[in-house]
Amino acid sequence: MPRTVAADEEGTVSSQASPTLSLKGIGASPGVAVGHAYILDRKRVRTPKLRLAEAEVDPERMRMKTALELSDQQLSDLKEQISHSEGPEHALILEAHRLMLHDPMFIDEVNRLIVEDRINAEWAVRRVARKLKHLFDNIPDEYFRERRSDVEYVADRVVRNLLGQVVDEEVAVPENAVVVAHDLSPADAALLARSGQVAGFVTDLGGQTSHTAIVARARSIPAVLGAGRASEQISPGDLVALDGQRGILLVNPSEAQLAQFHETMRRYQESEARALEAKDLPAQSTDGFRIRLVGNIEFPEELPALLSHGAEGIGLYRTEFMFLDRKEAPSEEEQYRAYRQVLEAMEGRPVTIRTLDLGGDKVPGKGKHEKEPNPAMGLRAIRYCLANRELFRVQLRALLRASVHGHMRLMFPLISGMSELREARSELEACRTELGRAGVPLGKRIPIGIMVETPSAALIADRLAQEADFFSVGTNDLIQYSMAIDRQNRDVAYLYKPLHLSVLRSLRNIVAAARDARIPVAMCGEMAGDSVYALVLLALGFDELSMTAGQIPTVKSILRQSNRAEAQKLLDEAMELTTAEEIERFIRMEMDKRFASEG
Ligand code: PEP
Ligand code: MG
Repeated sequence: MPRTVAADEEGTVSSQASPTLSLKGIGASPGVAVGHAYILDRKRVRTPKLRLAEAEVDPERMRMKTALELSDQQLSDLKEQISHSEGPEHALILEAHRLMLHDPMFIDEVNRLIVEDRINAEWAVRRVARKLKHLFDNIPDEYFRERRSDVEYVADRVVRNLLGQVVDEEVAVPENAVVVAHDLSPADAALLARSGQVAGFVTDLGGQTSHTAIVARARSIPAVLGAGRASEQISPGDLVALDGQRGILLVNPSEAQLAQFHETMRRYQESEARALEAKDLPAQSTDGFRIRLVGNIEFPEELPALLSHGAEGIGLYRTEFMFLDRKEAPSEEEQYRAYRQVLEAMEGRPVTIRTLDLGGDKVPGKGKHEKEPNPAMGLRAIRYCLANRELFRVQLRALLRASVHGHMRLMFPLISGMSELREARSELEACRTELGRAGVPLGKRIPIGIMVETPSAALIADRLAQEADFFSVGTNDLIQYSMAIDRQNRDVAYLYKPLHLSVLRSLRNIVAAARDARIPVAMCGEMAGDSVYALVLLALGFDELSMTAGQIPTVKSILRQSNRAEAQKLLDEAMELTTAEEIERFIRMEMDKRFASEG
């Protein structure tokens, strides 16, 4: 555990003593906290650099082997401790670190440097870690770029063990501390969270998908990460107020600012407590319209938070994320294990798995493909899979095999017409026949749905509904393509308007088509989890809304207080208006009147 600098014992830094400092970071775990800063100085170990004589090479390799074994044992012990108190997601993180210790890319390269370059083990570990981190640097996806720090944590542990330093040491954090650090390893974050004394986390590095964020969200500890040089600018004992939703930090706030923070904190805690009380209650309107609230995931690590917020299943599992950090696509076996893990963890609740939405800017095995001039309009999603049949078949076989382990539903992304749906279905059937002949158990038929996210699919939803078992509307893309705005382009982001009349008309058309064909209709784009739109979506008649874990309680609370017939009248009135701004102003005003305290 890192060296620590304790906050002053009385915690009596007065808010007048130092000038107020206002900092901005990334809101990584919602909630508001006020507490005294506890600076965790994660001091880097100095790496000795030595040249070896020939006779020293073999003993050096033995030292390395011992340090690896010791590191492995420590991680295994830690995993054991943490999985009891923190749940499986933290254990998964530590397991990933253990896998890194066994990775031939790591071990063989370190040994090669010891033997060929005759350098000591500490130096060799640092050199290999630098090379591995570099591989992560050029990955466009934020999640994988964040994994650079995992390489650092593992290397650090091995070097400390080589030097005989203490590695995991519990730190006695004073009650209600705001822990401020340059960076936190998952082990540090989990051990600190477990102490029950931490009011909030602030780190210079990290973002939404870093492990500190995952740990903080899972423990409902507010966190502001990526806060620049916060660990240098904040002193031990400073009074820190942080808003983990908006990414705001105030150091030594004035009396008035503090009062405002306390008020926000009180409101937040009240609404969170109310919402969580309703965790096991159905999302049902006062006149009996029932909507299933489910979750969006990219990684299995997100499952515990979904379940603790009352998700009734998974509405969108973005499987392509498994493909983005590597040269080779994951094998059928690896995919099968991942899908099975998610299905089993959801214990019979419905799990909607989307086949690969690769292509465009999400291309596996970077560097191998030429960049398309207009990726959003290019070879992506189902088009990419139909153009890369073997890749598609491997996934379909893995999905079919996994389907016996839970309640699976499967959907194809970016369907623009019936031919694509038929083609994809026939590929699935071919895989089913092939596996059946090989005697693989396949279970009963899986519902096959489509994502409605192109204007063409919205316009022929009545026909598509004849051959799809369900619809799931991807508003992120549907709005992008309806408004002709590239969703990656900031200059046109102002045109992204979920309440544009064209979007509302499309949604109405899609739901009506699903109703006529008696198939369920879901929404899994960002619009589904934004509580401002909850009444509109209730009025439209969606059967299922899929969102991130933290959004579920608020949306549920609004739905439970609303009357669908009244919401329908409201929507009719809104759709008499013309501009997106008018409609949005009207809906926001009506929502404020009814639910001002729901945040
Ligand atoms: C969508 O387009 O709304 C959607 C959910 O898919 P993605 O954001 O992964 O494109
Ligand atoms: Mg989409």
